[in-house]
Amino acid sequence: MKINTIKNMILLGLPATGKSGIARCANEEWGFVQLSTSDLLKKEIALGSDIGRKVEQIIEKGELVDDEIVNAIVKMVINNSDEKFLFDGYPRTIMQAEALDKEIQVDAVIYLELSDETAIRRTSNRDVCEKCGKTYQPDTRMPKIMGICDDDGAPLTRRKDSEPSIAKRRIEVASKEIMPLVNFYKNKGTLHTINVEDRDNLGQRFISMIESIEQANLTKLSKLKKERAHE
Ligand SMILES: [Zn+2]
Repeated sequence: MKINTIKNMILLGLPATGKSGIARCANEEWGFVQLSTSDLLKKEIALGSDIGRKVEQIIEKGELVDDEIVNAIVKMVINNSDEKFLFDGYPRTIMQAEALDKEIQVDAVIYLELSDETAIRRTSNRDVCEKCGKTYQPDTRMPKIMGICDDDGAPLTRRKDSEPSIAKRRIEVASKEIMPLVNFYKNKGTLHTINVEDRDNLGQRFISMIESIEQANLTKLSKLKKERAHE
């Protein structure tokens, strides 16, 4: 099904909710371009633009790039493009969400809902292949031979941030960040929730959801047209 009424989407979800898979799916199905803040910052630095040089200096000093700069970059990219965008990791704060609202129409916010407990479990004890970067984790995928990558036989190393207490802290921080945004978009009526406790058919469930949003938008539009014709 073609999607015409959705141009800008936001993806919200904790780590380990399958966001990158969803982004890939949205790109393959309908050409949505995934937009993450870190990608944008890296791109501006590589371009050597005025704003890029400013960002580079801030990062070199070990400081955080503030909302104002991130908003300026996002605004620049959106206004110079006709693409459909899927925002991932942006907005991060209500302030950014309000700033984005002034620049563009956010057509749909997809919230991948997962309990903190499951997210903590899925991000704990992760091993990563030194060669190809494939990750292994007891709840999701285990290597056939302990400590060895299935694909290339390279050794696996434990990710430092997947030590259970660090994983727990990381999820708690992320959860605190996401919930105000979930409520913000719920109040605006643009929030659509997919439960990802069970990860089966996630791509298919996402596609069906987008198609039903498109269908509802089309119905609304044709109703509006009819009402106008009667006036
Ligand atoms: Zn590997």
